[in-house]
Amino acid sequence: MAPSLTFQPVLERIAEEMEQRPGRGRAADYIPALAALDPHRFGMAVAELDGTVYGVGEWRQPFSAQSITKVFTLALGLAREGDELWEHVGREPSGNPFNSLVQLEYENGIPRNPFINAGALVVTDRLHSRTDDAAGTLLDFLRAESGNPELDFDQEVAASETAHGDRNAALGHFMASYGNIGNPVPVLLDQYFRQCSIEASCADLALATGFLARHGIRADGTRLLTRSQAKQINAVMLTCGTYDAAGDFAYRVGLPGKSGVGGGIIAVVPGRCTLCVWSPGLDERGNSVAGVAALDRFTTLTGLSVF
Ligand code: GLN
Repeated sequence: MAPSLTFQPVLERIAEEMEQRPGRGRAADYIPALAALDPHRFGMAVAELDGTVYGVGEWRQPFSAQSITKVFTLALGLAREGDELWEHVGREPSGNPFNSLVQLEYENGIPRNPFINAGALVVTDRLHSRTDDAAGTLLDFLRAESGNPELDFDQEVAASETAHGDRNAALGHFMASYGNIGNPVPVLLDQYFRQCSIEASCADLALATGFLARHGIRADGTRLLTRSQAKQINAVMLTCGTYDAAGDFAYRVGLPGKSGVGGGIIAVVPGRCTLCVWSPGLDERGNSVAGVAALDRFTTLTGLSVF
């Protein structure tokens, strides 16, 4: 398709189609601060490599980024630590829910991948050891890449997750028992919940994901990752970014993607553009129902996919 101008009509067509869809799933209810969201809300943005953004619906509405942030902490961790990081977290799809404990015992406290909660806890722990403030480092990065200095933590969501954080606490303590967590678990959990609580819009997150479409180059033209590291993160997003639905996501959408229980999904068309879609109604695996459907339609209508 011809560049840029054609994205806006595609987005508008998708938004119209999404309005006609019946069932939309349910907002995440295990984090009470998110449970009240109307599952029918919808926004979508596409950012080109030069920072031009197109959007539709509530594309400027901030929402809880949640597990989408796992992509950025992985990038920041990999940039600082290099391949040694992979000795502490794997890169295989888990085939299990995002907050599952089961594989850890068989695999000596090494989580399957950085995008399930266990793996993200390890990545945040290691980033925290190197920066003294993993969540702050992440927030600074997101502000810089999105060009939006207003981005911030949502204290209410962070407090809600802390109050209902038994599962993540269990993951942290269990991995600590294998020596795979370096910081005190309560310190790590505080970092992790603040990380998850960051509020950003589709426009912000599509822009912040740009370095993955630019093969590792940040918005200001400096390099964060090697070309190969950017490829690695895109590959892990494709295979693990939507948990135990990653196969179905790859089949339907055909792009590296990462979801969060706030209802957002980011996706990358390497060398071309990045996307972020938001709709709070989730399926039983924790992925936005309308979000996956919208990305499915985007790649179908534009022919842009990695395949
Ligand atoms: N903060 C959420 C949790 O740890 C993130 C999960 C997600 O978005 N899938 O449970």
